[in-house]
Amino acid sequence: MIFRQLFDRVSFTYTYLLASEESRQALIIDPVLERVDRYLQLLEELDLRLMKVIDTHVHADHISGMGALRDRTRCVTVMGQESSVDVVSLRVSDGDSVGIEGIEMTALYTPGHTSDSYSFAMPDRVFTGDALFIRGTGRTDFQLGSSIDAYHSLFEKLLQLPDSTLVYPGHDYKGDTVSTIGEERAYNPRLQVKSAEEYAELMSNLNLANPKMMDVAVPANMQIGLSQDELEEQGLSITCEEAERLHKHGQAVFVDLREALERRERGSILGALHAPYGDLDTLLAPGGSLHNLALRKNTKVIAYCAYGERSAMTVQRAKEQGVGSMLNLKGGIDAWRSAGAPIEVDADRTTDE
Ligand code: FE
Repeated sequence: MIFRQLFDRVSFTYTYLLASEESRQALIIDPVLERVDRYLQLLEELDLRLMKVIDTHVHADHISGMGALRDRTRCVTVMGQESSVDVVSLRVSDGDSVGIEGIEMTALYTPGHTSDSYSFAMPDRVFTGDALFIRGTGRTDFQLGSSIDAYHSLFEKLLQLPDSTLVYPGHDYKGDTVSTIGEERAYNPRLQVKSAEEYAELMSNLNLANPKMMDVAVPANMQIGLSQDELEEQGLSITCEEAERLHKHGQAVFVDLREALERRERGSILGALHAPYGDLDTLLAPGGSLHNLALRKNTKVIAYCAYGERSAMTVQRAKEQGVGSMLNLKGGIDAWRSAGAPIEVDADRTTDE
């Protein structure tokens, strides 16, 4: 695995770049807007292709580089289900696996610092965002933070990982770079408490000033969704109502760009073809299934994903490559579901329930 720990000196943020040597696919955790050029340069130097960007939570101390990286590389943006940002491509819940070819992580819901905080675990390491720092923990006094939740996240999730697990935090203010779960259990002063109440008491006496950037960073980070105005102006978007009408009459082919896990967990549109967004290069190339489909006359091809970001990027790309005209299902399957349109649930899953 290729691994880089990158630092932003202004906000003391650690950003992580993970990539597979074989597939050359890369993933970035917690990018900082001002450092985006540096990440892109590094990706190029290492001959890597950025597939996904994850924000562990809505940050209050810096503006996320997630939206800019998406706009410049068309990568997939990932945050937790609980996050109140306007749009991301993919939302994870506790226990979901998330990754790229050759690298897999497990999403751990670790609220407390914020109500949308996630950690991401691999067999040998965990990216703790602001849930757990080296000899510290994330503050819990804003953004729906809760010391009680933080206590449970720390003691029932993170400290349950093997002692040898490397801890890579979202920030460090003292110059430390990495620790282990065993080390933090033994020496982190905030973890020497006996109960959630004792932890809450300790946290309530910190009296911290708000981050300098907070009033700018939080609103900016809440609006990171891809602008889809251009597609609408070009008539390349379709509403759920219109799409459902075409679906009912068998007048459109639906293409599902989500990953297998999302389809399994959240269902899909009946009869939709599966064309994972990560394989788009092949799918849109001459001879690829999306390429062939889009060239068919008299067939409307409607691309959809979870919330409409991956499909918007696909439609835009198909257009640039001159591959027919695909339509983007506005708001994705999330909007389709809200409109009460029919969802097909995976057969394997129904038997489990
Ligand atoms: Fe934070």
